[in-house]
Amino acid sequence: MISRRRVLKGALLAILIGHRVVRGPRALAASSGAPRKPLDEHDATAQALGYRQDARSVDPQEFPTWRRGQSCSTCALIEVGTARMRGCTLFPGKLVSAAGWCSGWQQRGAKP
Ligand code: SF4
Repeated sequence: MISRRRVLKGALLAILIGHRVVRGPRALAASSGAPRKPLDEHDATAQALGYRQDARSVDPQEFPTWRRGQSCSTCALIEVGTARMRGCTLFPGKLVSAAGWCSGWQQRGAKP
């Protein structure tokens, strides 16, 4: 049985991804002028999406979509580059850890 909490998380994720993927380049550009801060795992949106700074700490019971090898560095929504902390279209104005993960992870290069 799917819990109410999981349904709400899924709905929030769908809204965020739909809105921010469309705005993606603009969202990153808009935040490029101000210094960006690392995303706090305790941020409300980060918590809702299960963001962890280290993907190895993801609880697979809570987030069964997580798979070994998934991390921000392999996600389509992170800024291209090699920096340890980079922008993500789901969290404008913030930096996420390349070693991190959230339930918004999307395969890089996947067709929409
Ligand atoms: Fe952003 Fe993807 Fe990392 Fe989630 S997994 S924080 S969507 S880069």
